Amino acid sequence: MTTLIFASHNKNKAAEINALTEPNIHISTLNEVGISDEIAETAQTLEGNALIKARFARQKTGKACFADDTGLEVEVLGGEPGVYSARYAGEDCNSENNIDKLLSKLSNATNRKARFRTVVAYISADGKEHLFEGIVEGQIAHKRAGSNGFGYDAVFIPTDDNINPNGTLTFAQMDLTVKNQISHRARAISKFVEFIANEH
Ligand code: IMP
Repeated sequence: MTTLIFASHNKNKAAEINALTEPNIHISTLNEVGISDEIAETAQTLEGNALIKARFARQKTGKACFADDTGLEVEVLGGEPGVYSARYAGEDCNSENNIDKLLSKLSNATNRKARFRTVVAYISADGKEHLFEGIVEGQIAHKRAGSNGFGYDAVFIPTDDNINPNGTLTFAQMDLTVKNQISHRARAISKFVEFIANEH
């Protein structure tokens, strides 16, 4: 059995990734290996933040480690909120505040192109660093729709001819299983999972 340390405290994400990996690979969160530190995400790129977290876990455990970081990148805003997606409206704000800020910034915008991007940083047992990227393209809706999911899901309309042929549904109007077929995170993680399957 190979254990990979996930530099996160998010048990749900870890379970999701565990379900996708081979049975001989076990994904442990930091809490599971007795590390409770919060890692400061001080980089200005998703790649930078994912590497900060993976390197921290590596330094603490000496084992193979990985981390993820995600942002919503809106074309007309020059890639904002990007790395600041979780705290776009301020440190103490929630997703509703973040969506309000985004919709108000886009109130006169006709170009509403956006994408979610996830980066996974992996430090293998030999200490080499690897990056994997997953992207889903889409549009920012004019108002919220749907109640599933989290974050910006209620205003993100993914572009996908099979899953969203009329381009009307937001992620929050889709079942999680449908979202997971095309999501940024699923795409980055499937590249990572394929890599480690070949490695072990
Ligand atoms: P994290 O790096 O996975 O913590 O994501 C950072 C922020 O991006 C979250 O706090 C959300 O605001 C946003 N985000 C990430 N993934 C999603 C998603 O699948 N749907 C909607 N918002 C997301």
